[in-house]
Amino acid sequence: MTPSDPHDTDRLPDDGQASGSQAQTAAHVVGVAGGGQLARMMFPAAAVLDLKLVVLDPDAQCSSAAVALRTIVGPFDSAACLRQLAESSDFVTFEIERINAEALAELEAEGYLVRPGAKVLQTIQDKLVQKKFLRDHGIPTSSFTPFDPQNTAAPKFPCVWKACRDGYDGRGVAIVQDATALAALPPVAALLEERVAIELELAILIARDAHGETVTYPLTEIVMDPQDHIMDSVIAPAEVSDSIARQCQDIAEALATALGYIGILAIEFFVDTDGQVLVNEMSPRPHNSGHYTIEACATSQFEQHLRAVTGAGLTNGDLLSAAVTFNVLGAQGASGKPHYVGFDGWSESDRVYVHSYDKPEVRPGRKMGHVTVLAENRAAAIEKAQRIKGSIQVVSVDE
Ligand code: ADP
Repeated sequence: MTPSDPHDTDRLPDDGQASGSQAQTAAHVVGVAGGGQLARMMFPAAAVLDLKLVVLDPDAQCSSAAVALRTIVGPFDSAACLRQLAESSDFVTFEIERINAEALAELEAEGYLVRPGAKVLQTIQDKLVQKKFLRDHGIPTSSFTPFDPQNTAAPKFPCVWKACRDGYDGRGVAIVQDATALAALPPVAALLEERVAIELELAILIARDAHGETVTYPLTEIVMDPQDHIMDSVIAPAEVSDSIARQCQDIAEALATALGYIGILAIEFFVDTDGQVLVNEMSPRPHNSGHYTIEACATSQFEQHLRAVTGAGLTNGDLLSAAVTFNVLGAQGASGKPHYVGFDGWSESDRVYVHSYDKPEVRPGRKMGHVTVLAENRAAAIEKAQRIKGSIQVVSVDE
């Protein structure tokens, strides 16, 4: 919609209203670049806040298409599509990093309200730029070096190779044992990280609004699949010392402030075998590690994100119940139309919440949904999740 004064992009008017042409009369519209499950989970929150969502996605059948006010079908790198999204919205945000950040920067310069901003996206979407940002701001992180295949100096093995861009759910990450394995990796811009002796992986969400107010969610423990490097489950709360919890919270505050962040920011940490806290990576959007907030917290990460983006005011994110979330991935060998097994039949009293992402096609390892279980304490939630995990899966119809 009509952009606001370009000099005003970092500041909301005191009442938090957008200055788009319809802002005073109609529900605000948030344009979301990406129409996958993360955008899809914003919709219930949008309804609570009386917001409408328009999405941009290359796939006309993306998870959000059925519920969006409008789906703009087009690639994430298209400046024209991003402009269309901005022109349809009072605020622009994104649920995926693979967006044309330069195009977003241009829109921002014209006065469109992009939140979090294009600069944040540029800093985070390239893992090398992100690592440099962490290092330059004195945030503890594993040592790293840009990977140059022409440079014959052998790194210390084992090390971790990461594609600078477009890696997610472990795609674009490889533990490398020797020079032969390193040479066989795809010829894309990459970095090499020291392999951390990981004791524990943790995550935290922090929301920050345009006034610099923040709300930090509880620290959670993330359990990764050691083979695929994809998140298996998330346990809330994490069981760590006060000192580790404090360090993670302080780092989250420092990063959100240093980035001038608006929205929800997810930060993943390693605790190494010496008890040292290291930032692994940041994600400038709602995150898989925060799905538990839908049922377990006073306000979900999705609502908090939209609140921050639209200036509706942040609200309490307290943890109300111990929870475990596990991902439901497409089964091995599954391909084509999905068949959901064990998704139905849960009642409110079970405190088992099964989410389907309504993807039209299942593939092995594709995120098809997630399940959050609540219980009276952490141990009970872990036990409950383990008990029901095997009964919930997504195969294909012909299996
Ligand atoms: P993605 O962006 O695909 O989630 P990450 O950078 O978070 O990739 O890496 C995925 C997983 O790989 C991590 O959660 C961790 O288990 C493992 N990993 C990543 N970096 C390192 C490292 N430097 N040392 C040891 N393990 C690592």
